[in-house]
Amino acid sequence: MVMRRLYGSHDWVEARQLSGLAMTRSRGSRGKDTRLHRCSYCNYVTKRRANLQRHRYKHTGEKPFACPYCDHKCADQSNLQTHIFRHTGEKPYTCPYCPYKAIQKRHLDIHTLKHVDQDRDDML
Ligand SMILES: [Zn+2]
Ligand SMILES: [Zn+2]
Ligand SMILES: [Zn+2]
Repeated sequence: MVMRRLYGSHDWVEARQLSGLAMTRSRGSRGKDTRLHRCSYCNYVTKRRANLQRHRYKHTGEKPFACPYCDHKCADQSNLQTHIFRHTGEKPYTCPYCPYKAIQKRHLDIHTLKHVDQDRDDML
């Protein structure tokens, strides 16, 4: 009884296997995106195509990110963001110890370190 039911569904199983093959094939073409991207100027390698594109700007000197407030152009979007903060006066990084605010995180990091040192000096 059970055996006969299995045979009966044989055609369906085959159809499913075929669609499974189609799926692996489409997955195979999508696999190209996970291939490593190599820089043609140096030995830089990345998994992300966007990263390579951004890296290439270093060689070509291209700066595709333009400031909307002035003529300043950047090769890196995050650098441009920092530049724009200068126009808007926005300072997104706030010191946890005082009202100091910084445009860049590393500026705040340096500032916070000073704080700790100063505290230590006061203690001595
Ligand atoms: Zn390179
Ligand atoms: Zn600007
Ligand atoms: Zn502070």
